[in-house]
Amino acid sequence: MNMKQAPLIRTTCPYCGVGCGVAVPAGGRRNTPVSGDAAHPVNKGRLCSKGSLLGETTGLENRLLHPMKNGARIGWDEALDEVAAKFSSVIAEHGPDAVAFYVSGQLLTEDYYVANKLMKGFIGSGNIDTNSRLCMSSAVAAHKRAFGEDVVPGCYEDFEEADLVILVGSNTAWCHPILYQRLLAARARRGTRIVVVDPRRTATCDEADLHLAIAPGADLALFNALFCELAARGTADRAFVEAYTEGLAGALKAARSAHPSLAGAAKACGLDLDTLETFIRWFSETERVVTAFSQGINQSQSGVDQGNAIINCHLLTGRIGRPGMGPFSLTGQPNAMGGREVGGLANQLAAHLDFSDESCNLLSRFWGSSRVAASPGLKAVDLFDAVADGRVKALWIMATNPVVSLPDADAVRKALKACEFVVLSDCVAGTDTAACADLLLPAAAWGEKDGTVTNSERRISRQRAFVPPAGEARPDWWIVAEVARRMGFADAFAYRGPADIFREHARLSGFENNGRRVFDISSLSGISDAEYDALSPVQWPLREGGGTARLFAEGGFPTPSGRARFAAAAPPQRAGPSRFPFTLNSGRLRDQWHTMTRTGLSPTLGSNAPEPAAEINGHDAARLGIEDGGLVRIVTAEGAAIFRARVTADQRQGSLFVPIHWSGENSAGSAAGRLAHAARDPLSGQPAFKHTPARAEAVAPVWQAFLLARREIAKPQCGYFARRRVEGGFLYELAGIAAGDAPPDLDSLAGCTAERIEMHDRHAGALRQANLRDGRLEACLILTRKGKLPSRDWLIGLLAEETLGEDDRRALLTACGAGAAGAEGRIVCACMGVRAGAIHAAIAEGAGDVAAIGDCTGAGTNCGSCRPEIRLLIAQHEKDEAA
Ligand code: SF4
Repeated sequence: MNMKQAPLIRTTCPYCGVGCGVAVPAGGRRNTPVSGDAAHPVNKGRLCSKGSLLGETTGLENRLLHPMKNGARIGWDEALDEVAAKFSSVIAEHGPDAVAFYVSGQLLTEDYYVANKLMKGFIGSGNIDTNSRLCMSSAVAAHKRAFGEDVVPGCYEDFEEADLVILVGSNTAWCHPILYQRLLAARARRGTRIVVVDPRRTATCDEADLHLAIAPGADLALFNALFCELAARGTADRAFVEAYTEGLAGALKAARSAHPSLAGAAKACGLDLDTLETFIRWFSETERVVTAFSQGINQSQSGVDQGNAIINCHLLTGRIGRPGMGPFSLTGQPNAMGGREVGGLANQLAAHLDFSDESCNLLSRFWGSSRVAASPGLKAVDLFDAVADGRVKALWIMATNPVVSLPDADAVRKALKACEFVVLSDCVAGTDTAACADLLLPAAAWGEKDGTVTNSERRISRQRAFVPPAGEARPDWWIVAEVARRMGFADAFAYRGPADIFREHARLSGFENNGRRVFDISSLSGISDAEYDALSPVQWPLREGGGTARLFAEGGFPTPSGRARFAAAAPPQRAGPSRFPFTLNSGRLRDQWHTMTRTGLSPTLGSNAPEPAAEINGHDAARLGIEDGGLVRIVTAEGAAIFRARVTADQRQGSLFVPIHWSGENSAGSAAGRLAHAARDPLSGQPAFKHTPARAEAVAPVWQAFLLARREIAKPQCGYFARRRVEGGFLYELAGIAAGDAPPDLDSLAGCTAERIEMHDRHAGALRQANLRDGRLEACLILTRKGKLPSRDWLIGLLAEETLGEDDRRALLTACGAGAAGAEGRIVCACMGVRAGAIHAAIAEGAGDVAAIGDCTGAGTNCGSCRPEIRLLIAQHEKDEAA
């Protein structure tokens, strides 16, 4: 196919909750050009590094292409029959609550709708929960408590129309990059103040006017203090409060109870009084305020209370639902919101219905089923506990990797291994969860699926297929509907395609609604297939004249009284000193997504942060003998894992941070989930990933090495390894930790090919070996017991050479190749592929700011997420010059 002539398919990015539109040539596979959709209202043609490099991830590497049973390929009929038969027999013998689905914010709304309908509508159990439980279920519960329904009241334009934007527990610059760039563009026009509330100094702080580096878990104390001060200083909007809210007096009393004085609140937050006073004054004197919050608020044992504490401040000041104002929950996943619309959370029914008798009856009538679940099911952590203790005997996991992502992940692995029957439907094959499943069902991947997703601002966008499904992959909705048919529910699941499902979903949203539920898209229930195909992005609820950007400026809350509810709680007591003196935090990196099953396919995205690094403050590191670039073991009550140490002033003393992206597939278990405790918010059930008690220990490796190989090798058996894709092959960082960790050689790691060159210096403890075939580099191992390892970049470049000349061979064995000193360096700007070496060179030639470096190299000129890192390089250069 001539790619230049292929028509462009407009679809939606599969990564974060910003929900950018992208355009891809029809038929495009690996390295297909992906561009931003200029007509999409969210991004207007822009993409971040992950979106820009989607083309590097759409190949067939690691795809699950056929149904597999215990490692052997089987046919679709056999696989579907087996799932239906096993689930039916468990239900017949043990009841509907003995089966469960664990699904994902990666599913499209249509997939989600069908899965939820099968479990809650026809199997008759509430046991379907989603990995969105780990992400934003506290925000959902806070919305429901305050507004009566899970509704985000504002829109992205509010970030552009605000005069003060407060980003709480959100590294927006990395995790919601295009929305952050919209904010920065607006700031350049109108001078928006930006406040970041985060114990960690993140890239988002780079542009902040004020960074409140509060103590971990002090968000409730902070926003309770703000709430009380706003009330005391006369900032309340009395008319709004009287007309549209209830419960103010009780909430103020609760908020004051723990810290009656501002000085007490400042102490609890770990802030000086002046800083806290500045924050309160800015909020108080600014009408147009947006408070955006994300995982730092949600992933806490007080996540719901923290969300309500933020909402309280906006209700009190009436700053909600008007341009540039409101509390705003930033969702992590592309379709977390769509999952919430259809009841993907175990404690919700479809169409924002609760588990009341009235709602269950409504659904019974709509679906024509007498089996609708009457009570909520198990939330994620409880669900896997039930798998572990045998209450759940058959589990179907869809499009997610809980063995890596759930807290206390080793216990999840054990639970799956012990479970009678585990089905995994996914588009990828080699995941930690796949290794625990009895049956694997190949699902269509991004680019092969058709349906809708809803982003953080309630905007429904189409995901459209631009290639046919690979191998025997099928859409998730089809797989679920086929199982439903085999379980005896054929009539209720007779969908011809996603448009049928969407129309039913839309019809349900308006069924006996009569204005009681805000979520209403029933005006789309009669659209034709062609209109569905052409559907433009639109925000729900859909009313006369189209979508709705903002809600609640004039009340209309879907509570029994029609009023919003203030809800405040005192912060919980902190635990005293323990054998785990650190607070372990976890989160995302700029260029990776979840457990790297897709972004890990991109050599460019893997270059910026090549290894799992644990961040620790310099004072803590010095006290513990941990060196920057050395190894550190993080230990919690749940487990232990080894990381590369990054010593940085960005961390508070007493805090640690690890990324969430590594797994047992690409590392020796440097997975954040293995360390995280299973403590959770009592209302939402969301795990408190931000606050696991931990300790840190220096690790002295007995040897260190790296292996560069053209092909993937079996997992190395040593105390530490981290694998990433590079241009033309794979790079493995390796280290021996225990005395028994014997140093490897190329034979044990990659075998021996036609030609071997090697240098072994026993005295210095150095080994350098290379396999060549027809003069071409196949693999090389560089190992040292005492010294430093050379730059990888030059060696990676050798994979592109057809034959190695004498100079290259000599340089390989002496590790002194051109560029071995690291002239190229890691990729700083993933969008434009610009490495640190090029930026250093531009600085040396006189480029003194980010714009000048952009002019010279292109770095920082696309999504802008790398600009903080470029500034750091400039600052480092200036420091070096001054020294
Ligand atoms: Fe995708 Fe980046 Fe847009 Fe998020 S901000 S939707 S990851 S392009």
